[in-house]
Amino acid sequence: LDQVNSVSPTIAASIIKELQDQRQNLKLIASENYSSLATQFAMGNLLTDKYAEGHPYHRFYAGCDNVDAIEAEAVELACSLFGAEHAYVQPHSGADANLVAFLAILSSKAQKPLLESLNIENISTASREDWNKVRATVQNQRLLALDYYSGGHLTHGYRHNISSTLFDVYSYTVDQESGLIDLDQLRKQLHEVRPLILLAGYSAYPRKLNFAKMREMADEVGAILMVDMAHFAGLVAGKVFTGEYNPIPYAHVVTSTTHKTLRGPRGGLVLCKQEFAEWVDKGCPAILGGPLPHVLAAKAVAFREASKPEFETYAHAIVENSQVLAQACIDEGLQVPTGGTDNHLLLLNVAQSFGLTGRQAEAALRDCQVTLNRNSLPFDVNGPWYTSGLRLGTPALTTLGMGGTEMREIASIIKYVLSHTKPSVTASGKASLAKYVLDENVQAVARKRVDGL
Ligand code: PLP
Repeated sequence: LDQVNSVSPTIAASIIKELQDQRQNLKLIASENYSSLATQFAMGNLLTDKYAEGHPYHRFYAGCDNVDAIEAEAVELACSLFGAEHAYVQPHSGADANLVAFLAILSSKAQKPLLESLNIENISTASREDWNKVRATVQNQRLLALDYYSGGHLTHGYRHNISSTLFDVYSYTVDQESGLIDLDQLRKQLHEVRPLILLAGYSAYPRKLNFAKMREMADEVGAILMVDMAHFAGLVAGKVFTGEYNPIPYAHVVTSTTHKTLRGPRGGLVLCKQEFAEWVDKGCPAILGGPLPHVLAAKAVAFREASKPEFETYAHAIVENSQVLAQACIDEGLQVPTGGTDNHLLLLNVAQSFGLTGRQAEAALRDCQVTLNRNSLPFDVNGPWYTSGLRLGTPALTTLGMGGTEMREIASIIKYVLSHTKPSVTASGKASLAKYVLDENVQAVARKRVDGL
């Protein structure tokens, strides 16, 4: 850090402040974790200086021997960790991984028959005219994915995301009463929509999904089952989600991030059946430029960490903590959508429990050293900015070794803070959606309790 400080004291100071922040505040953000120092050191080094477009042992740059070894190891470890037929470890993020997967599916399913009918043997050498014909077939294919408000991700067809330009998007929602994805209802919708891709996976859905059933349904209409396990990859690697709840045997293509429950460096990953491998490996030039060799190295380190027995213990502890936290919140009288959780996250309806928006609750808790994020709830009347809910996750606190006692204390702190938080009232007598009033004494008591954890 002295080196950084000598060039840029402001950046060095921000890094130190971030360290203090992550130590002082309770990290309950469901998509965050604490990666190991081994992962961080594998990432923060001279490998960043190397270009290596292509894939292992097939590069468009000279001098890639070491990157070849690193990427080949990361690929092999990813395949053995997840039991996948093929892995592509270059995506820089989960969003990139999804784009790579979309393009690979479009290419293999929509283009291949046409390439054959046009007698194009090699797409790389096809004429511009033939290429345009091929491209025309991939327009307006249908994507059926979980609605953003029901817990889907922006890259699953949200109207302001590139995925909604790439596809004719249809979405499924959770059941209004139970808050759960109703697979019978989804089957009906699948038969109506007949999409190219059925996309499963979520950012804010607290329940497990039956991928065996989803694959069966996808097969009925000839759709590709794509699963985005960005949030729960660590629960798959750690063997919490097994059998029909493990997407790897059932999905044609699986995408992920590497930095959430998986506890690796920030990055993305695509796993697929062999039939998609050739197209997935074309992530560059389809979406990406050069890979990030330092991040590939850190991914390899993290995959090795996740293949140890201790990681299984960790993954099970994440879910146990999440379930204890959900039950403790219910015991405190809070409204927990779906009545609990099967995974690393849970939702709270703070509009119903406290008359607050998610934004007010998020900010009030942050004042008390509890960091979590507001989240839209299904059919949310407060929209994606203010929201009616909070999303809480246990991966980071579980990494710190916290257990049931701490989870119950956290539920009690949350209840204490939010029951003392009131929406500010404007001069015209209207309750604000953003501003709130929280007594300083309450803050002091809550902070002391957080420090005690
Ligand atoms: N997919 C899902 C389900 C996610 O929850 C996220 C991130 O929150 C992403 C993809 C995107 O990951 P990234 O932020 O690395 O682009």
